[in-house]
Amino acid sequence: MATQQAELIFRGGPILTMDDARPRVQAVAIADGRILAAGDEAEVMATAGADTQVVALNGRALMPSFIDAHGHFANALQIVKWANVSGLPAGPVSCIADILQVLREHVAAHPVKPGEWIIGYGYDVSNLSDGRQLSRDDLDPLFPGNPVLLIHSSNHGAVLNSAGLKVVGIDASTPDPAGGVILRKAGSSEPEGLLMETAFLPIFTAMPQPSEQELLERFNAAQQIYARTGTTTMQEGATSAHDLKLIRKAAEQGRLWLDLVCLPLVLEVPKLVKEYFPDFSGGPMELPDTAAESFGTYRNRLKLAGIKALIDGSPQGKTAFWSEPLLTGGPNGEPDWRGQPLFPPELIQKIVKELAVKAIPIFCHCNGDAAIDLMIDAARAAGITAEQDRRTVIIHSQFMRPEQLDAYVELGFTPSFFTVHTFFWGDVHVENLGRERAYFLSPMASALAKGLHCSNHNDFSVTPVEPMRMIYTAVERISRKGEVIGPDERVSPWQALKALTIEAAWQIREEGQKGTIEAGKLADLVILDADPTAVPSADILRIAVVETFKEGKSVYKAAAA
Ligand SMILES: [Zn+2]
Repeated sequence: MATQQAELIFRGGPILTMDDARPRVQAVAIADGRILAAGDEAEVMATAGADTQVVALNGRALMPSFIDAHGHFANALQIVKWANVSGLPAGPVSCIADILQVLREHVAAHPVKPGEWIIGYGYDVSNLSDGRQLSRDDLDPLFPGNPVLLIHSSNHGAVLNSAGLKVVGIDASTPDPAGGVILRKAGSSEPEGLLMETAFLPIFTAMPQPSEQELLERFNAAQQIYARTGTTTMQEGATSAHDLKLIRKAAEQGRLWLDLVCLPLVLEVPKLVKEYFPDFSGGPMELPDTAAESFGTYRNRLKLAGIKALIDGSPQGKTAFWSEPLLTGGPNGEPDWRGQPLFPPELIQKIVKELAVKAIPIFCHCNGDAAIDLMIDAARAAGITAEQDRRTVIIHSQFMRPEQLDAYVELGFTPSFFTVHTFFWGDVHVENLGRERAYFLSPMASALAKGLHCSNHNDFSVTPVEPMRMIYTAVERISRKGEVIGPDERVSPWQALKALTIEAAWQIREEGQKGTIEAGKLADLVILDADPTAVPSADILRIAVVETFKEGKSVYKAAAA
C-alpha cells in the first residue's frame, strides 16, 4: 500500500485533540480533507513530502472546529439585513432611547419605501434601564408610515408599532389566543405592542419575505457569521417547509461550504409530507414508513438530523412551563404564574410516539421542569429506553429538577444546555425563580456526573454565535451583576470545549467523523490565538479565532494583526 503524502502539517502546538484517551499530540497531518496522522512529531513528519506545507503554530492552539449544537441558521439569512436592538454586549442597547437611535441609523443606512416593514432583532425588556417594556407609543412618532417589528431575544415574541399591529390585524377587540399573550396598556384592552408565543408566531410566519434569489445570494454572508467563530457545522434548529425548500435549493446549487444540519419543525410535518411524499395518504401528523431514510445523511452538505418538537416558550419571556410559580408573576402580572405548555399533553404523546415508531430522532425544546416532565411522560408512554440509543436531544434543559437527570439516564435523553443564560439573564432568573432554582440553570456539572452527554449552544440568534462565551459561561457562570449563577455547576475548560466538539458531534451521530483530532476524521479544524485550557478563565472571552478549516480548506482567516 502506497503511503499517502500530507498536504498540510501543523506542529509546534499546543494541539488539543478533544479525545480523552489522548488529549494532546505534537503534530497533525492532513490529506484529501481528512486527518492523515495525529501524534508524535516524528511519526507525523514521516508523512511529509516535497509539496507538504508545514505550519508552525508557535503557541497558537489547534483543535477540532466547533459544532453548533442548537441555533437557527435561517435567522442568519435575515439578520444580515436587520437592525440589532440587542442589549450589551450582543448589541448596543441599554435603554429605550438606544433602540430608537439604532432604528434611525438602520433606516438611514437601509432606506425603506412607505409601507415596507422595518425589522429588528434581540429586543428584551431586561436590557432596558427604563424599567418598562418598549411600547408602540415609543415607536409611533419615528416611522408612522412603516410597520415596525422588533423580535424578542427569545424569538418567541415581538414589539410592534401601531402601523404594524394594524397590518397584522391585532387591536383592542382581539382576544389572547390559547398559548399566547398580547400585552395590554394599563387599565385598557388596547395592545401595548408586545406579542408573545402563539400571538406572535402566526404573524411572523406570514411576514413578507425577500425574493428567493435574494435569499440564495445571502448564503455566503450567512455562513461567514459561523466560519469567523471557528464553527464549521451549523444548525437550522426549527426548519419550516418553506425554509427547507430554499436550503435544499442552495445546497443543490453548491452554495453551502459549511455543513448544515436541519431539524424540520414538527408543526410543518403535514406540509413536508405533502411535498416530499405526495403519494402518502396517512393522517395529518403522521409520516410515511420511508421517511426515516431521508434522515441522517449529508447531501450537498445538508443533512436532516431529526424532527424538532417544542413544548414551552422562553424563561426570560416568562413563557416557559414550570411546576412551581414564578416569584414575580406572569408577563401581564398574573399571580401564581408558572407558564403553560404550547400543546396539550395528548398531542405531545402522539408526536413522540409517531416519531419513535418511525425511528426518527427527536430534538425537543424544553425550558421549564414541567415541560421536561411532559417530555419524560411522553417518552415513557412511547416505550423509549436508553438501550435503544435514540439520542433524544432535550434542547435547553434549562430549569431541570435534579431528579430529572435520572430520567434522562433512564430514557437516553441528552441535554443541549444554554450556559450563556447565566450571563445574559442570570440576574433575571434569580429574581423570577429564587436562587435555588436559578442556580440549577443548565446543570452541566451534575449532568456530566450522571454520565450524560452534554452539548452547549448559543441558540443563535437568541444570542450571537460566540463559542468563547459558551466556554467562559460554562466555566465561570458569572451574571451581568457579577453573581456566580450556581457555583456547583461550573465545569472545567476541557469539559466546556468537549460540549462544543465531540459531544455535539455525538448528539447528531457524527462522532465517527467530527469532534476530535484522530486519523481518518474530517479535517474540520480551528486555530485559536491561545489555548482555552491554559489561560486564566477570565481571559477566555478574549481568545480570537486565527483561522478556520473545513475539510482541510481554509474558510476564514483573520486579518494579520
Ligand atoms: Zn432555538
